[in-house]
Amino acid sequence: MSTPEKSDLTNTAATPAAGRSDDDWRRELTPEEYHVLRQAGTERPYTGEYWDTHTAGAYNCRACGTELFTSKEKFDSHCGWPSFWAPLAEDRVRYIHDRTLGMERVEVRCANCDSHLGHVFEGEGYGTPTDQRYCINSISLKLVPAADDTGA
Ligand SMILES: [Zn+2]
Repeated sequence: MSTPEKSDLTNTAATPAAGRSDDDWRRELTPEEYHVLRQAGTERPYTGEYWDTHTAGAYNCRACGTELFTSKEKFDSHCGWPSFWAPLAEDRVRYIHDRTLGMERVEVRCANCDSHLGHVFEGEGYGTPTDQRYCINSISLKLVPAADDTGA
């Protein structure tokens, strides 16, 4: 897959997450954010901020600010959570096999701070380039609208 050209990949203002303690996370995140990001919780469908959002922009990690997804890969899955068919780049996320519900799911985490984002499913028949659905909690993301996108 080709990497879309980004104007300022290095300007994500991500704070170093390594070394942050559990207490640090509890202090920095709201209880709801902490539950999803650090305890792999799941927000209720159709309740999150971004499940039906079509704003152009980047979706950053709510915990550390790393750009993880963009609106270009977001699609309407009607599943109640923001859905993307690919991350901004493969090295922005990492995958963990999760068998907690008796079926194998693949958990998606922020590669920078190891916070829980959601899960990725594939082969569901969505008409997207990858046939993958990154089903991500709104509360794990922070939308940065492309207000001054130069479009260069
Ligand atoms: Zn992160």
